[in-house]
Amino acid sequence: MKHLYRTLTWPEARERASEGAVIVIPVAAIEQHGYHLPIDVDNVLVEHVTEEAARRSNGRILTAPMIHYGFNEHNMGFPGTITVREYVFIDFCYDVAHSFVRQGFDRIVFVNGQGSNQMLCNLAARRINNTTRALAGAVAHWALAKDAVDRLRESEYPGGMAHACEFETSLYMYLKPELVEKDKMTRREAPSRVNQFVYDDLFGSGPVHMVNRWSRISESGVEGDPLLATADKGKEFAECSIRNLVEFCRLFRQQPVPPERDFNYSNERLD
Ligand SMILES: [Zn+2]
Repeated sequence: MKHLYRTLTWPEARERASEGAVIVIPVAAIEQHGYHLPIDVDNVLVEHVTEEAARRSNGRILTAPMIHYGFNEHNMGFPGTITVREYVFIDFCYDVAHSFVRQGFDRIVFVNGQGSNQMLCNLAARRINNTTRALAGAVAHWALAKDAVDRLRESEYPGGMAHACEFETSLYMYLKPELVEKDKMTRREAPSRVNQFVYDDLFGSGPVHMVNRWSRISESGVEGDPLLATADKGKEFAECSIRNLVEFCRLFRQQPVPPERDFNYSNERLD
């Protein structure tokens, strides 16, 4: 059974909607990833996880074409980075998801590959839930790899695994080793830990949300330690994410949607 939405004919799209396929929308970014990795890291990683999950799902998942660009203003000090304004990005993600809802798909999940997109994907998913009969959610692919990271991580916590780091470099080494410039890997850059309230890590940030402009705090663009990366770790991280995405979508399809109730005297609704 086809697992990539872009390969369907329109009658097939109609049929898969009626069968209740879960739509996975990969969301990524084109941005600097230090001296040693290409700017397409987020695209490559999220594409692999989402397409493999769909391929292994026995038709339960359809992976949509990717949203390639993300919200990246904080990284614009580094060439190679493309940014989309935050409100434009939310609207764009919402419109893509809403187009699936209009076809009859009612389970949608954004799978994101770039940290700053996450809060915006969350909001786009919530807007789907607030304005349509469908259910939508959003998740970062690294969050699905947590079990493997807990086992294999060597970077310090928190702050040692954030960008072009042990995690992302391991995955890219696994998927496209020929494009990793090992001799250009920087020594560990200072982890993003300002104080006990402000720190950043793929697996847990500080209580105060404060994302600085990147060029103020990083010379190479890296945040973390790429020298700890290996292709074997990358494979484990990817397999863990794929397994968890398939399992989440299985449960998501079964998740009931009770009828909405309105206890107000008025029945005005948000458009
Ligand atoms: Zn990245």
